[in-house]
Amino acid sequence: MKFASFSYKDSTHLGIVDSTAGSVRPIDGVNDMVDLVTRYDQLKSSLKTGAPIALTDVRLLAPIAIPRRNIFCVGKNYGEHAREFSNSGFEAGAVKGAEIDEFPAVFSKGPNTVIGPYDNVDLHAKVTSSVDYEVELAVIIGKPGKNIAKADAYSHVFGYTVVNDVTARDRQKNHKQWFLGKTLDTFCPMGPWITTSDELEPENLHVKCWVNGELRQSANTRDLIFDIPSLIATISAGLMLVPGDIIATGTPAGVGIGFVPPKFLKAGDVVAMEISNIGRIENRFV
Ligand code: MG
Repeated sequence: MKFASFSYKDSTHLGIVDSTAGSVRPIDGVNDMVDLVTRYDQLKSSLKTGAPIALTDVRLLAPIAIPRRNIFCVGKNYGEHAREFSNSGFEAGAVKGAEIDEFPAVFSKGPNTVIGPYDNVDLHAKVTSSVDYEVELAVIIGKPGKNIAKADAYSHVFGYTVVNDVTARDRQKNHKQWFLGKTLDTFCPMGPWITTSDELEPENLHVKCWVNGELRQSANTRDLIFDIPSLIATISAGLMLVPGDIIATGTPAGVGIGFVPPKFLKAGDVVAMEISNIGRIENRFV
C-alpha cells in the first residue's frame, strides 16, 4: 500500500494511492499518519475509503507533515559519497578524518524542516550561500522498540519514503556539529507518500536525483555501508523508537560539494528525486 497525506478542497486527508491509476482514495475516520501507523495492525482490515480522486486534483503533503520529534539522519553511508565528502573540504566535527567510519554518524533535523513533495525550498540567502541536495531513502518506524536486535529490525518498519536532506554546507562545516546546517526551515522535502514494507525490497532500490533535469546521483541501496538493520540496532540502543519515527539512511555520491568547484543550488533550480517502488518528489529552490 501507498499511504499519502494530502489536501483537497480546503481539508486534509490520509489516502491510499493507486500510482498506476494516478488516483488517491481518502481514508474515512483517520486523519493523522502517525495515528494510522501506530494503530495499523488493528485498522488495516477495516480501513474504509471514499471515491478515488485524481492525484492531479490534490496537493500532496509530506506523508508525516509534522513529525513528533526530530528526524534521525545518517551521514556518510555510501562509500563513494564518504570519499567525495572527505575530499570536499566541508567535512567538520566529530567525524572528520577517516573516509569510512567504524560507527555510523547519526545526527538529526528538526520537525520544522519538513515540507511536501512539491513545495518550494527556501535558500535562506541571508544565512547561507552553499545549499546542497541529498537524496535519501527514509525508513518509517511502525512498532516501538528499544535495544532492537538486527534480526528483528525489519519487523519494526512500517514503510519507506523519499527525503531530500537539504544542507547548508557552510553552516555544517562552521558549527562543529552538523545540526544547524541541516535544520533550516524547509530543508526536508518528503514524500510523495509512504510505501509499506511488504511492497518493496529495501536493500535493492534505485536512488536517483536530478538537478534541472541533469542526473547527479544514481545508486542502489544495496551499497549502504551500514544497512537498515544496523542503523535501527544502533539508534535504538538505549533509546525507544516509536511509531512515526523517521530514519534517513544517507545519501550516495554526486552531491554539489562532490564537484570541483562545488555546484551549489541557486534560485530557480529544480531538484527531482526518485526511489524505485516509492515515487518521485520535485522541489524548486527559491
Ligand atoms: Mg544526508
